[in-house]
Amino acid sequence: KQSKIEYVLKTVEERKVGFIQLWFSDILGTPKSFQITPAELSSALEEGMTFDGSAIDGFSRIQESDVIALPDPTTFSLLPSDQTVAQVFCDIYNLDGSPFEGCPRNTLRRALDHAHSLGYSFFAAPELEFFYFDKDVSNGPKPLDSGSYFELTVSNLPSQLRKRTVLALEDMGIPVEYSQHEDAPSQHEIDLRYTDALTMADNIMTSRLIIKEIAAASGVLASFMPKPIVGVQGSGMHTHFSLFKDNKNAFYDDRDETGLSKVAKHFIAGLLHHAPEITAITNQWVNSYKRLVVGYEAPVYISWARNNRSALVRVPTPKTTNSQSTRIEYRALDPAVNPYLAFAAILGAGLAGIEGEYELAPQIQDNLYKLSTEEVDALGIESLPGNLDEAVREMERSSLAREVLGEHVFEWYVRNKKDEWSNYKTHVSQFELDRYLEQL
Ligand code: GLU
Ligand code: MG
Ligand code: MG
Repeated sequence: KQSKIEYVLKTVEERKVGFIQLWFSDILGTPKSFQITPAELSSALEEGMTFDGSAIDGFSRIQESDVIALPDPTTFSLLPSDQTVAQVFCDIYNLDGSPFEGCPRNTLRRALDHAHSLGYSFFAAPELEFFYFDKDVSNGPKPLDSGSYFELTVSNLPSQLRKRTVLALEDMGIPVEYSQHEDAPSQHEIDLRYTDALTMADNIMTSRLIIKEIAAASGVLASFMPKPIVGVQGSGMHTHFSLFKDNKNAFYDDRDETGLSKVAKHFIAGLLHHAPEITAITNQWVNSYKRLVVGYEAPVYISWARNNRSALVRVPTPKTTNSQSTRIEYRALDPAVNPYLAFAAILGAGLAGIEGEYELAPQIQDNLYKLSTEEVDALGIESLPGNLDEAVREMERSSLAREVLGEHVFEWYVRNKKDEWSNYKTHVSQFELDRYLEQL
């Protein structure tokens, strides 16, 4: 750690950095930060900085509100918009030095420690989808291009913004594997190259902000709302996951006809079994559930398959004969997620499958969206929760969710989501006014 600290201090001096942003996440995954000057940095890196956490969602505690933000020097990076400003992610501690229970980064660390105790490291690679809209949203979201899947349009503002963003992320040490136009007008996608899950959760926090900042600099709104426009695709954040043991991909087994190891199959079985309980975490807004409907490329039914876009878990074909790229794709996630909590919950569900040796049901290769609900029922296939209310009820009953998140985060999260639902439930929408106001 000492050499990392020295590297940070040296970089700040050489690059004439004037401000260092200490980053952390609230329980909903909203990025938070406060800035310090280089004069404070050395002691901040050694001892952390005390701040009043009571203003942060999910942080407040009854007795005392002061907590310590301790920078993780391995996450130090200069920000692209202004090279005199740097960022560094922090872990939050109590004044007595114990990890603070309301810190999502600590939640994920705890889940990763559990995996390590079984010999596994956990890797993630998200496909981040989002829309670019005119910043004037007074008449609803206005797309800025009319492209669709993989469209190679003449250079227009959204494609330039996407290109600038990819270069900025690469510059910050966040490698991008692909980027493309997505299916809906003005919908774009940036896929990050896989890293360990903690680094990736940080990278998602950073990427979302950079995407927004670069758009805003050109007067454009970048939106991670899961379903901003009726009738076209919503934005997902399908994420590819793998476990490694002794530097080998633990999901791969060449003796199996599908190329999947026992570990992979138990992991998938765990995910499918616990999916309803963790959906409030992977899909946290009321609006998230408007994406999870039949007919788009978002999942509804709890099933798995190799290369079936209506499945919740897909197993992409590994690159040629590279067994190290064996992975599973979890397709429920959307880009409005708290990545720390979601990765912890997904890992927890998968490990429960491994530890409990859950049996994996056969894969379903039909396009489930072409079947009637009766046919789906006859196959014994369950559905994801249909709205936030159902999802929170499932979560509330889940000992897995309680254990993975820890009591503090669990209680706070459930309470917050119940509030969100009760506000939504009593809201009278334009849909209702248009339909019922003038009816007899
Ligand atoms: N936009 C789709 C979703 O909501 C995903 C499209 C794709 O397969 O990349 O999940
Ligand atoms: Mg996509
Ligand atoms: Mg995908």
